[in-house]
Amino acid sequence: ALILPAAVYMLQDPSAQAAELERTFIAIKPDGVQRGLISEIVSRFERKGYKLVAIKLVVPSKEFAEQHYADLKERPFFNGLCEFLSSGPVLAMVWEGQGVIKYGRKLIGATDPQNSEPGTIRGDLAIIVGRNIIHGSDGPQTAKDEIDLWFKPEELINYAHNSENWVYG
Ligand code: ADP
Repeated sequence: ALILPAAVYMLQDPSAQAAELERTFIAIKPDGVQRGLISEIVSRFERKGYKLVAIKLVVPSKEFAEQHYADLKERPFFNGLCEFLSSGPVLAMVWEGQGVIKYGRKLIGATDPQNSEPGTIRGDLAIIVGRNIIHGSDGPQTAKDEIDLWFKPEELINYAHNSENWVYG
């Protein structure tokens, strides 16, 4: 397969340009994987019209989890959170689409499932903040940093999705 840098790909494929190639990092945490919620969660992003560009099942080390959650290292729950993230398989993904960073957070719902609206992933599928089943980047810079941390460039697949013309017109 031909692998091209994103900028070249955009020039070649007008529908990719329409989608502006915005990408976010989404991970199903060990609780979501163990509870059999992979297909439910993937399906919500897929049905919305976003494009899956990378996916892998990994068991992160504690050190890796600490890197991922570095911004939270002063918080009292930091250690427990990193122990938890490294306790089993995590489904790491990159999703692409217009506005996917911000709207992906809407699909996920508020951090504490007690406050997440019904209809959101956490609202529908989780109860407590320490077991809220999914992670999503909270802005463009964290999205970039998290994608770089979890994936090698060659693991991100540039491809045209045949529904793009129908999703974006
Ligand atoms: P989000 O995952 O919604 O971006 P944060 O970045 O604030 O939220 O927190 C990262 C993760 O830390 C949360 O998803 C949750 O799993 C955990 N967490 C946040 N607050 C608490 C808390 N008060 N007690 C236990 N775990 C928490």
